[in-house]
Amino acid sequence: MKKLKKITFRIVLVFVILIPVAAFAHFIIFPQESRCILIAYSGFKKEGRLYFNTNTSPAKLDTLKTLIEQASLRVANFWGRKTANPTFIYCDTEEDFKKYGNERLDPATTQYKLGPYIVISKEGVDLDIIAHEFSHAELYTRLGFYKMQFKIPRWFDEGLAMQNDWRNYYSEDTLQVRSNNFKNLPDVTQFNRGGAFNEGTHEQVMLNYMAAKHAVKNWYSRQTLDKLITNLNAGKSFEEAFK
Ligand SMILES: [Zn+2]
Repeated sequence: MKKLKKITFRIVLVFVILIPVAAFAHFIIFPQESRCILIAYSGFKKEGRLYFNTNTSPAKLDTLKTLIEQASLRVANFWGRKTANPTFIYCDTEEDFKKYGNERLDPATTQYKLGPYIVISKEGVDLDIIAHEFSHAELYTRLGFYKMQFKIPRWFDEGLAMQNDWRNYYSEDTLQVRSNNFKNLPDVTQFNRGGAFNEGTHEQVMLNYMAAKHAVKNWYSRQTLDKLITNLNAGKSFEEAFK
């Protein structure tokens, strides 16, 4: 009986103290991810899987829905089929994007915790940008949070997403000119994790994205991609699975 009381006390302790403390700490350390998880309780309106500020115009909403549909088809075509079902959060103001996306004010970003959540800014209302983020979401859905966070190197994640991002200034033609016919490419495979991939001048960062796109393009076929996912899900390291 005493033992039962002790167990009950511990369970109550977890619910009453530890969970709220952990949730609060998560909010302090990861404010944007926490707000995405709680988007249903924000003042945003919802249509299908798209959340938006009430000030968003109906025309903008129509455009967004069309682009999301087209991006979804592009991703499905690349992967063979689409498995991701992301939540989309459209932020019409910089202030909102800082709350749900990031402080860097990227055009769009994807949050993974209990997600994926694709956060789109005003500048991110673009087929290539949405397809890029959708690709990150697809990889996440196929691997799960742990592998995405700890096994996938940054260069590969971005290089893969870039396969569905057809913006002209990231094209092979641009890279060919910028890298002296592919002779002066940065070694992006050194960028395993963290922010190093995005460090440097705007030009250097763009070159990293292009070089990562180039490396993945030379490796990719639907079979190699499927094999990589199967191997990673079987517990292999990225280096083993990528071979
Ligand atoms: Zn990306």
